[in-house]
Amino acid sequence: MEPTAYRYVSTTETTTDDDLDLIAIERVINNSRPLPTLTPAEQRITAHLMHQDDVPIEEIAARVGVAKSTVSNWLNPGPKQPRQLKPCPSRAAYLRHRAAGEDCEPCRRANAAADARYRRTGTGRQPAA
Ligand SMILES: [Zn+2]
Repeated sequence: MEPTAYRYVSTTETTTDDDLDLIAIERVINNSRPLPTLTPAEQRITAHLMHQDDVPIEEIAARVGVAKSTVSNWLNPGPKQPRQLKPCPSRAAYLRHRAAGEDCEPCRRANAAADARYRRTGTGRQPAA
């Protein structure tokens, strides 16, 4: 039986982490020119790290290679918009009622009307007013 071959890998000189090129990230942060091209994941992490060092957004954008607005969005993602559910009566509400085991007469009619519209016009959507 062949002995298992082990390869020595230095843990202190690791330069990649989950497909991130840490050397490339470091070069951009340190502005070591020529600057490497970063992958999208590397760009985001680099932007956050530079932001922690109080580097202005303009400078981050220039070095990472994306628009200023992109950096702003990464650093301050807006609040998540709550989902707007279609109110009764509607086909969407009918499907919600059905999933919940509820019966709603106005929504049943809206669903039937949407079905009839679909058969007639090829779309269940109401025509624009
Ligand atoms: Zn309803």
